[in-house]
Amino acid sequence: MMSQEEVKILADYIAENALRNTHQRFDVLDVFINSEGHFSIEELHELVKKKYPKASFSSTFRAMQVIEKAGLAARISGVDGVFRFEHLYKHQNHGHLVCTQCGQIIEYDNSKIIKLQKKIAAAHHFEPIRFGAKVRGICRNCQVKR
Ligand SMILES: [Zn+2]
Ligand SMILES: [Zn+2]
Repeated sequence: MMSQEEVKILADYIAENALRNTHQRFDVLDVFINSEGHFSIEELHELVKKKYPKASFSSTFRAMQVIEKAGLAARISGVDGVFRFEHLYKHQNHGHLVCTQCGQIIEYDNSKIIKLQKKIAAAHHFEPIRFGAKVRGICRNCQVKR
């Protein structure tokens, strides 16, 4: 089930920015929030179509841009310029292992790394906004194929 909090955040953002209040945006939010993982816009659109067969690619694309601006989704750049969306709201900080062969993204707990990055930032009087710890490499499946 989609949490009412996320629906409210999106509805508030749409109202504050005087955007058109289309049901497609909430359909896309519904599918996105209920799908745990990292999705390219194409993958996400496939999921949206399963539940809402009339959805068009451009409406999914535009909806995700609004959902991202409302602070509910974050973009992670994958391999070959393909970016993927993941949940941002109430999603704990984590690092990513990105496979350069198949594009798979694995999450790991990066709380220790963030602690260290905070120390480093403080030492430089630097105010961090977003922490990242991305590692590129080759996933287990792709290692077997080599
Ligand atoms: Zn792989
Ligand atoms: Zn992630």
